[in-house]
Amino acid sequence: MDQDDKNHISVHWFRHGLRLHDNPGLLHCIEDSKEVYPLYVLDEDESGISTSAYPRMLFLFETLQNLDENLREYGSRLYVLKGKPLDVLSQVFKEWGVTKLTFEHDPEPIYQDRDNSIKALCDDKNIDWFEFVSHTLWDPTRILEENGGEPPLTYAMFNQIAEIVGPPPRPVADPDFSQIPKTHDDHDDKYLLPSMESMGVGQELESQGSAYGRYLGGETKALKLLTARLEKESIAFSAGLCLPNQLNPNLTGMPMSLSPHLRFGSLSIRRFYWELRDLFHKMYPDRPVPGSITSQLIWREYFYCMSVNNPNYARMKENPICLDIDWYEDDESFDKWKQGQTGFPWIDACMRQLIQEGWIHQVCRHATACFLTRGDLWLDWQKGFKVFERYLIDSDWSVCAGNWMWVSSSAFEKVLQCPRCICPVRYGKRIDPTGEYVRKYVPELRNMPLEFLFEPWKAPVSVQQSANCIVGTDYPQPMVDHKQASRDCRARMEVIKKMYKDKPHIKPASEEEVLMMMWEKTGRDRENHEACNHEHGMDEACDHNN
Ligand SMILES: Cc1cc2nc3c(=O)[nH]c(=O)nc-3n(C[C@H](O)[C@H](O)[C@H](O)COP(=O)(O)OP(=O)(O)OC[C@H]3O[C@@H](n4cnc5c(N)ncnc54)[C@H](O)[C@@H]3O)c2cc1C
Repeated sequence: MDQDDKNHISVHWFRHGLRLHDNPGLLHCIEDSKEVYPLYVLDEDESGISTSAYPRMLFLFETLQNLDENLREYGSRLYVLKGKPLDVLSQVFKEWGVTKLTFEHDPEPIYQDRDNSIKALCDDKNIDWFEFVSHTLWDPTRILEENGGEPPLTYAMFNQIAEIVGPPPRPVADPDFSQIPKTHDDHDDKYLLPSMESMGVGQELESQGSAYGRYLGGETKALKLLTARLEKESIAFSAGLCLPNQLNPNLTGMPMSLSPHLRFGSLSIRRFYWELRDLFHKMYPDRPVPGSITSQLIWREYFYCMSVNNPNYARMKENPICLDIDWYEDDESFDKWKQGQTGFPWIDACMRQLIQEGWIHQVCRHATACFLTRGDLWLDWQKGFKVFERYLIDSDWSVCAGNWMWVSSSAFEKVLQCPRCICPVRYGKRIDPTGEYVRKYVPELRNMPLEFLFEPWKAPVSVQQSANCIVGTDYPQPMVDHKQASRDCRARMEVIKKMYKDKPHIKPASEEEVLMMMWEKTGRDRENHEACNHEHGMDEACDHNN
């Protein structure tokens, strides 16, 4: 394009998609513009400042800082303004004489009012606006259209529709700011990222900000982590495995997961997807690329797709896909769960890590969610969802609520048939065989012998004394008798099952889908389609005797 054709004064509005690589909106913004303003609006509600805990906000601020640093390398800057998007954009449209706005499509219904108001503002002011799909592999609306306007009710169905729609687009080129004039001199006075303190974001606990073992935000870190992940993946492929993060959950190792970066968009989902597939193809050019190597990324797509037309997706009431269940109301029990004071060391370790670090592994998410809902306490999944939403650094409305509905058997599962219920003792022993994880997050039990670590109430008093941990004084007694509690839950499920027997309900296409979702069928299991027959720490029909 000739310099003369570059007439626009353009804003690229960053929301998610906080990256320069694979950013079609940013590319389009630069294409025919003589001035470009990369903008981020710090809105108390939508940035999460009013609702999220410190680790997540720290991750966001690091990501914005890194975006500014990377833009600087191109001679540009990130313009950060506080306020409501409608107010901020109205103001800058006038002040900068804006003629074009670009942004990434946010598919979730919670963002629709915001985006509709901005599109209407642009139309009113004769500003061209362009929206680009790059937060998901496919445009969820396109998937729905292909399925006759309805979300595909099972993961298998989603895959079939996605196959009809065709492979997701490959990442676009990196941006080129070379023809764009340098940033205004007044940038640092007016548009600098404010400090977290000035925005009132503070730590609840001292341990929430410590750098070791903490996820660090920003595109630069995300791309390094992707490189490390691909190396790990290539070793796994050579051994005939896949999904290395799932195969041997390393609960105390350095952070390796990419979900926080996918959430904020500091890593492109398309780049992750295609680099995985290309790696496999490079290693085994004669073999078809197995779908299993990207299957977890497709779960993310599936949940996005399920929420797209459903503003009540993260609620129980008026949510067409969710069973309306008469959960108990018991604030005291809920607080014990949230504070990691249940008396089950494995569950407590998970909850304490969540609050301190903003991160827990999938197996911990599954165990704690099952314990709160259909496994033991029979408490409302929405309350658990709110805790995860506040504390997880990768907290993602569609994905988080979808998983909570699944684990609590409220949707995506067979109607409360609870085929597998997690035993808070045996499952912990299996995942944390040395007890290192429990000892780290439940230091009261640091000296408890491994034999009793996961059920310290069974330790003789003399053992408790020499471990400096008297159960009931230094560490709580178990808040429920798991055997009895899980039986009670099962009985309640039977009643509800009868009530809902004629109600159409979203459920998995097959037993294999359930195992995949629970990460109980991973790596070699998936590749060879073997039965998953080792000891899982699951109670068949919730009937474990602890
Ligand atoms: C109750 C509960 C709540 C959850 N809340 C969230 C959440 O808010 N945000 C979030 O990203 N994940 C959530 N998950 C899913 C899962 O725990 C995380 O995505 C996973 O731990 C990320 O680790 P990873 O990047 O190493 O996963 P990998 O195995 O490397 O998977 C790659 C990517 O696939 C996606 N993915 C993996 N598992 C799932 C899944 N079960 N559902 C949907 N997408 C998946 C994630 O984007 C992940 O980064 C939740 C799971 C449960 C049981």
